[in-house]
Amino acid sequence: MIEYDLTIGGKPASTATSFDVLNPSTGEVAGRAPNATSADLDTAVAAANAAFESWSAKSDEELQAACEAVAQKIGEHSEELAQIITAEQGKPLNGLGSRWEMGGAGAWAGYTAGLSLPMKVLQDNNEGRIELHRKPLGVVGSITPWNFPVMIAIWHILPALRTGNTVVVKPSPLTPLSTLRLVQIMNEVLPAGVVNVITSDDKGDNIGGAMSAHPDIRKIVFTGSCATGQKVMASAAETMKRLTLELGGNDAGIVLPDADPQAIAEGLFWGGFINNGQTCAAMKRLYVHESIHDEVCEALVAFARNIPVGDGMDDNAILGPVQNKMQFDKVSRLVADAKERGQVLLGGAPGDGLFFPPTIIAGLNNGDPLVDEEQFGPALPIIKYSNVEDAIAAANDSPNGLGGSVWSSDIEAAKSIASRMECGSVWINKHGAIQPNAPFGGIKSSGVGVEFADEGLAEYTDIQVVFS
Ligand code: NAD
Repeated sequence: MIEYDLTIGGKPASTATSFDVLNPSTGEVAGRAPNATSADLDTAVAAANAAFESWSAKSDEELQAACEAVAQKIGEHSEELAQIITAEQGKPLNGLGSRWEMGGAGAWAGYTAGLSLPMKVLQDNNEGRIELHRKPLGVVGSITPWNFPVMIAIWHILPALRTGNTVVVKPSPLTPLSTLRLVQIMNEVLPAGVVNVITSDDKGDNIGGAMSAHPDIRKIVFTGSCATGQKVMASAAETMKRLTLELGGNDAGIVLPDADPQAIAEGLFWGGFINNGQTCAAMKRLYVHESIHDEVCEALVAFARNIPVGDGMDDNAILGPVQNKMQFDKVSRLVADAKERGQVLLGGAPGDGLFFPPTIIAGLNNGDPLVDEEQFGPALPIIKYSNVEDAIAAANDSPNGLGGSVWSSDIEAAKSIASRMECGSVWINKHGAIQPNAPFGGIKSSGVGVEFADEGLAEYTDIQVVFS
């Protein structure tokens, strides 16, 4: 049984009650997490506020060194955190699972530590000098989802620290344990109060809502669903908080007639099924030209058929269960509906517990729920098209605009189609490959702002212009 206290002001803080965290592979209790109240949140925000003055006064070199120390600690505890992620999230230790997530967390932490936003001189002549300075905001509230609990916490926390802010992080009630431990580990090398963690079962006080409205939190960085993102935006309005919102996607992939079905099959599979499809920028709709439709389907199914699905702790598992019942029910509903409308090429029937096999369904169109809704699970709809203009229009016919991809043997032709897709990232012959040196964010309903690289770092600062 994994059990941790909150960490507030550098010290363990207990709560009156706690809640169970289930292992999705077994349905058994993996651990228990503190059930914080709004009063606990206030204590955490006060601790972060108290730490801000001295943290924000540190030099750029000191902040960089502190973030490097955090990155080092994450590396040292990588296996321990991977085991906790698998226990609560369900993803396998191996493949593109929790060890891979921890590899990403370490890489992002190290890269972010090395970023910097130095003062810029905008003008320096006999009419005067103008300097642009980047100043930290204060306390940053980080609200994270359950799909990549540690990696997304790192995406939020490290740029906040690097720019001189302090943090209160609130993980999803479904995956709080790895973040509780992560913050303990960070506190071994950070001053008290610089990073604090609050967990809640979301059934009592609405901690996420209270964070979004909190007068002493200056920014919310939120990753989660569009519906919750809208609530965050509404409750942040009164205090004029800075916001970064990384929300849902319904990414389209377009396979052009000149693509090589065998060569792209593996990339198509992982584009759609990474983390069991529970990835914001996974490919959630695949448009395939009629001239190679059947070959692409065959090659994709042949690859997908051999992927072992099992308990995340099993060394042979490459995909695990769906993370939670609500998500499992959503995938089951969308697949049951799609079976009536199209042809099931693989999978299609729910398994035991929260296991759902990789499912591929052809013969679908825009307007079908599995195409229009974000399934966030292991079920990929395939749409046959005859005219590429129609495919682009269908791909863009979505309120979301997170990612997209074009698959072709002609990179330049693919790029010209990519430029017409309405999304924040477009990949050629791959999907969802994000990197710490490239800004990532959604357009349309998929979010506000970007994460990563200098552009992401800048979102944790206000500009002050000094005229002399
Ligand atoms: P969710 O919106 O249900 O929950 C996200 C977080 O918000 C959790 O910590 C939750 O406790 C908290 N929350 C709940 N109510 C709140 C409120 N009223 N105010 C503030 N916070 C509140 O999302 P989820 O189910 O955990 O995650 C899945 C969704 O996240 C999918 O839509 C997926 O596409 C999206 N996602 C997006 C990205 C991205 O970078 N764009 C990355 C991962 C996941």
